[in-house]
Amino acid sequence: MQQGATVSTSGAARELLRRLPAVDVLVETPAIVEAAGDLPRPFVVDVVRDLLDEVRTRLLAGEAPFEAPSGNAALTDELAQAAAERLQAARRRFLTRVVNATGVVLHTNLGRAPLSAAAVQAVTDVAVGYSNLEYVVDAGRRGSRHDYCETMLTRLTGAEAAMVVNNNAAAVLLVLSALAHDREVILSRGEMIEIGGSFRIPEVMEQSGCVLREVGTTNRTHLHDYERALNENTAAILKVHPSNYKISGFTATVSASELAPLARRHGIPLIEDLGSGVLVRTERYGLVREPTVQESVAAGVDVVTFSGDKLLGGPQAGIIVGRKDLIEQCKAHPLARALRVDKMTLAALQATLAAYLDGDVEQIPIYAMLNTPVERLRERARAIVEAVAEVVGVGAALQIEAADTRATVGGGSLPGATLPSAGVALRPHTAHRWTLDELAAALRRGLPPIVGRIEGDVFLLDLRTVHPDDDELIARRLVELLGEDHDGSSDEVSSELEATP
Ligand SMILES: *Cc1c(COP(=O)(O)O)cnc(C)c1O
Repeated sequence: MQQGATVSTSGAARELLRRLPAVDVLVETPAIVEAAGDLPRPFVVDVVRDLLDEVRTRLLAGEAPFEAPSGNAALTDELAQAAAERLQAARRRFLTRVVNATGVVLHTNLGRAPLSAAAVQAVTDVAVGYSNLEYVVDAGRRGSRHDYCETMLTRLTGAEAAMVVNNNAAAVLLVLSALAHDREVILSRGEMIEIGGSFRIPEVMEQSGCVLREVGTTNRTHLHDYERALNENTAAILKVHPSNYKISGFTATVSASELAPLARRHGIPLIEDLGSGVLVRTERYGLVREPTVQESVAAGVDVVTFSGDKLLGGPQAGIIVGRKDLIEQCKAHPLARALRVDKMTLAALQATLAAYLDGDVEQIPIYAMLNTPVERLRERARAIVEAVAEVVGVGAALQIEAADTRATVGGGSLPGATLPSAGVALRPHTAHRWTLDELAAALRRGLPPIVGRIEGDVFLLDLRTVHPDDDELIARRLVELLGEDHDGSSDEVSSELEATP
């Protein structure tokens, strides 16, 4: 029995080996052309060749990697389908757009703030050709990229001067390097924070060559703690906004407006890392109060740093605003060159700042999302559920319904703050083959990937962070997924070969 089976498999294998299509033929099939998208041709050829090599190796080893159809065209189709899945997986390993259905508005892993249409247009305008990035057009001479966005930033924040670098981590590094190298910087123990990744305030201070002078305790720091630490080697007082955590209970911190006169009396700058750096009142968007950049400047902080892609809603950037003489020192420091931004960032930031100046904050996608009434999100969720139920006739496989959820701001902003939201909730029945993780993975597998979140025993697609234009895509992908699940007849070859890495 055993013997006979092996002999007949290898007989079929030999026959199959002869019938395998050539790489060139497979590459031109519509399924592969479509799945390949913009992938460079050599990558596509590699994927197809690897697949054929694998099939060949397994056939030669006497295995039957799949149930081969009898017709040659059908065989080519089956292999093309398997290659198409691998090509999609390859595309997902390149930088690509994703649908953020996590309900986390500023998701650092998903690229933080989406850009406004005006910002995208501004990027295109300067990117397709040349620009006056470092050129003073009227004078016909060399200029500085550090001067862009400065007028807008000073106007918006009330500061004397401004500059833009790669991100807020870079801004803190530059400011400390330029203003406090080899000297002491006073910092409260309650503000010795880690932002995530490898950004820890004490380590950034060490990197910038300044000496950390810790004062106070984790929960309580007083003005006299700062006063006592001041000496002739003090370069600055640093305040760090604890943007990603909250200490409550028996606490005391010293505000910027209390520290400013102390710093001034001793002739040293007060520096503040604001983290998110918001320009509008967050209470208006149903969020807890986040200190604004304007408030810091008005409180007498000499140098304020913040991110471009957190609650500002622009491109990744680090913004430094403050006293002109101090900003000049930062611009002149050698690190400014290493940390400089390119023309696309400046263009996007300029357009984002223009929306604030025009009083048209809703142009900025994160504010449009934050401002969407929850009733509107509920309607969209119901429409998706209806569209899916209509086609699939759900019920058996899993329960799908519109549900109220809580969205969060994220991105190390406003810790613990949530806002009402709504979305689509999928609850697999216990007897069913989907687990929550499999459901989540299946939605991530398409292009663009859809990323949701698991909460208890449901998989949620939170619509607060989904552009309404993507609702149809979500409905279509759910139909595909649940429809395929219903008849249970997913392609034999593709599911077999998909399992091999
Ligand atoms: C987010 C954050 C940073 C880092 O900002 P990036 O723009 O991500 O580099 C630094 N400090 C604080 C307080 C932050 O919240």
